Amino acid sequence: MDIKVVKSLLAKNWGVDGDLSPLPSERDINFKVDGKTAYVLKIYPKVNADLKIRLNLQNKVLNFLHENSIKVSPAVIPTKKKKMLLTTGKDSAARLLSFHQGKTWGSSSGHKGEQIEQLGRLIATVDKSLAKLSITKAERKSLSSNFIWNMLQAEKILTWSSKISDIQSRAVVEKTLTHFAKKVIPKLKKMPMQVIHNDGNDYNIIEEGENLSLIDFGDMIYAPKVVGAAIAAAYVGLKSDDPGKQIAQFVRGYHSVNPLSNEELSIFIELVKVRLAASVANAALQRSDHPDNEYLSISQNDVPKALITLDKFDSNFALFRLRNAIGLEANPNAKAIRDYLLTTSSANILSKPFSQLKIVYMNWSFDNKDIPRSTQDLEELKSKSGADVVIGYYCENRNVYQGEAFNPVADNARTFHLGVDIGMPAGTEVFAPLDGVIEIFNNNSTNLDYGPVVILRHKTDSGVPFWTLYGHLSIDSMPSWQIGKQIKAGELIGRMGKEEENVGWPPHTHFQLLTDLCGMGIDIHGVAPKDEVSLWRGISLNPNLILGIQSGTDAHARISPESIRSERRVVVPQNLSLNFKKPVNIVSGSGAYLFDEQGRSYLDLVNNVAHVGHGHPRVVTAAATQMATLNTNTRYLHQAMIEYGKALTNSLPDPLSVVFFVNSGSEANDLAIRLARAATKSKGVVALKHGYHGHTQAVVEISPYKFLGKGGAGAPSHVAVAELPDLFRGKFTGKNATEKYLSNLKKSINSLKQPLSAFFSEAIVSTAGQIVLPPGYLAQAFETVRANGGVCVSDEVQIGLGRVGDKFWGFELHDVVPDIVTMGKPLGNGHPLAAVVTTPQIADAFNNGMEYFNTFGGNPVSAVIGQAVLEVVYDERLQQNAKNMGAYLRQGVAALAKNHPIIADVRGSGLFIGVEMMIDEKVPATKEVADLMEFALSKGVLLSCDGPDNNVLKIKPPLIITKGDVDLLLNVLSDWLVKR
Ligand code: PMP
Repeated sequence: MDIKVVKSLLAKNWGVDGDLSPLPSERDINFKVDGKTAYVLKIYPKVNADLKIRLNLQNKVLNFLHENSIKVSPAVIPTKKKKMLLTTGKDSAARLLSFHQGKTWGSSSGHKGEQIEQLGRLIATVDKSLAKLSITKAERKSLSSNFIWNMLQAEKILTWSSKISDIQSRAVVEKTLTHFAKKVIPKLKKMPMQVIHNDGNDYNIIEEGENLSLIDFGDMIYAPKVVGAAIAAAYVGLKSDDPGKQIAQFVRGYHSVNPLSNEELSIFIELVKVRLAASVANAALQRSDHPDNEYLSISQNDVPKALITLDKFDSNFALFRLRNAIGLEANPNAKAIRDYLLTTSSANILSKPFSQLKIVYMNWSFDNKDIPRSTQDLEELKSKSGADVVIGYYCENRNVYQGEAFNPVADNARTFHLGVDIGMPAGTEVFAPLDGVIEIFNNNSTNLDYGPVVILRHKTDSGVPFWTLYGHLSIDSMPSWQIGKQIKAGELIGRMGKEEENVGWPPHTHFQLLTDLCGMGIDIHGVAPKDEVSLWRGISLNPNLILGIQSGTDAHARISPESIRSERRVVVPQNLSLNFKKPVNIVSGSGAYLFDEQGRSYLDLVNNVAHVGHGHPRVVTAAATQMATLNTNTRYLHQAMIEYGKALTNSLPDPLSVVFFVNSGSEANDLAIRLARAATKSKGVVALKHGYHGHTQAVVEISPYKFLGKGGAGAPSHVAVAELPDLFRGKFTGKNATEKYLSNLKKSINSLKQPLSAFFSEAIVSTAGQIVLPPGYLAQAFETVRANGGVCVSDEVQIGLGRVGDKFWGFELHDVVPDIVTMGKPLGNGHPLAAVVTTPQIADAFNNGMEYFNTFGGNPVSAVIGQAVLEVVYDERLQQNAKNMGAYLRQGVAALAKNHPIIADVRGSGLFIGVEMMIDEKVPATKEVADLMEFALSKGVLLSCDGPDNNVLKIKPPLIITKGDVDLLLNVLSDWLVKR
């Protein structure tokens, strides 16, 4: 096409100017436009009625995604006359789209699991949104018309598969498509249909830094979502020897956003293969029609290879990987096998039961500098400890697998042991624990392999098969083995081999319990790759289900932070968020510091739960001692609950003298609602805007932070919200602001549709951005509440127990006495301990005949922990330290604020501090605070932020922090202020 004509088309219709460069395309004419902004101009020289519908639908889809805040795909740029599709001639048209900068996914290789999961999430996000798009009959028809890339019509490909010249590829393509027509299509037909992108191939995915986007909606069809997911998944493993692994990573990402069902999973790999088969067949067809169009055969070298690899792959193992990817136990039979073994007694594998043998565990992990590796080492270990048998752990991350068979490189190094090792002298007899049949045996004589090894097949009562493996036996054990031979429980299977005959290991038997052989034959993986541990845990179960060693055999060796993060996406709900762009894997804590798996230290300025410091020895000892002595419920007399209850109420002003022990702040506030209702016989609640009181149904309903925030459904009918008395940036500031807030509170009470029961507040409103209530507010507010028949609840979950420095409890800063005080976080220093303290009158009103029983609340262990924490606060003068360090910290930040106006307000009391950052008077420094948190993390300081604009640094460390710790924070803050 003439460039000049194209340029004038752009200028005239869109007012866009720029350099033009052609982009490859199968059907249209595409140009990249490089001007002030980059665009893609798409020109369609032959537009019939059907194509017109499809082009308009593409625009509709892209606009729909953008309207739903899914900005991962191009935006349609309307013409000056607001047309999305420009008619350029009788049967030609053009569209202008925003250009997504970056490189195509297919232009690089070696994507990490995390990136592949992200790609899964991208496709899932688009699919999830498009499921809500309604389309017309005509649009739907156009999406279902004859089309090579419509998988639902893939059967037709068989008519030209003969054009595939490579015989092996052709055979697999034909087999795949025949199976698809017979077995898969009927399942697909039962699934709900929607608009899908249908072409998430590696040249339609654009990577820019950490962001991914999806382009080219020209191949959309109407189909079940799993079709589109499988199509995108088909391309992620193209360059891999083990594509099933990448496909599973993709599935994990997809499922974490848009859940896949078992039915969808069961056909997933087949769908991937159908896409690859279609690609191979189409390339053959196109190549025969247009031998010199390069674009048509892009990525064609890898496709047949991936298809053949997938076809050869064990189908059970492929499915196990997908099941594990979506958070299910890898082998669906595993539960039945475990349940069977838990109620079946096994014969002894050694001549005596383990209960009569003294055991010593060997440590072959990376943590051990001196691994007992030789026959002599093991003998020494045994004799030193007077043990009869050495046991090697299941799921130990071992530093002994260095041979090539174990893939010593990188993330997938095979180092996690899947059996239990039973170490005894060479010649020790090994017996079958269960009836079984010899499935297979061999002398695996490569160095560091199993040596003589035998596998027995067993079955549960209901016929579910499973296998046991015995490795490192002696060569003279072998003559009695025969495939298919029946073995009775208790029958001899062999003897432990010498180091020479079992290819380099000290005498022992590697005993493994398998739920499937996964097509491995006798080359069973006895060691799992460290990035697929959870998968293998679901295939090769802990053999102690059979051995019954009472002190256990699972090492629970650490998996990588990447694996933990990935597992987290499917094992826990996705609205349990993580801090920081690259979340930190914290493995230990001490005092005011936390440590990650690499031993890096972080000053913890976030955790007001670890009130007296992480792992405080007095608290730990109290907990362990009491746990070893007694823990039971509160229906017996026990001194600890009463002593601690009294100590707690003694710290509060009269008449707060009755304590209810509970397990969390939410539960405390939930109970406070019940107490208030009992005392007032009413239900209305007033809470402060942006305040949070917990996660149970009853307390979410009184938490404006939640019900007015993302996903919230607004205030319930029994709740009214009072303006947050924020004198810095609230609704009212300046003179008389406090009075205005008080009259607003009255208004809120009056607006209630039912009589007032309770007013909930914190003295420093944490989630609102550490807003210190102005002097006089709380006293007046309590008066108003009481005058209206309500009770006053002070939520001390965040701020209580000496944290605010000047006083022991937050409300005491205001010279008021609440009717109910709720407390939580700090009480147990991390142990789930919370409480509600109230007056005898309110407690009495609650005592209406219905029993109050709380299984865990007030148990002896919780009580002694609470007592220890309280005593540490007293004995170490931590309230005084909170006051001094808080003042020092606030002064230091205030001094920095003089030269850095972004620090707009420094507030708080003791060690409950807020630093509000503003770009100017109106614009909150949200991004900057996020950047500061990341910067501080990189310097070993943990911070958090909150407030409606997320622009307030929250500082609420353990009360034990020192001047040196505060100086560390001030230096980091100062460095950031200078650098930014
Ligand atoms: N009240 C306040 C003020 C809180 O900040 C929280 C927790 N952040 C809760 C109650 C709820 O406590 P929990 O998470 O222990 O249930």
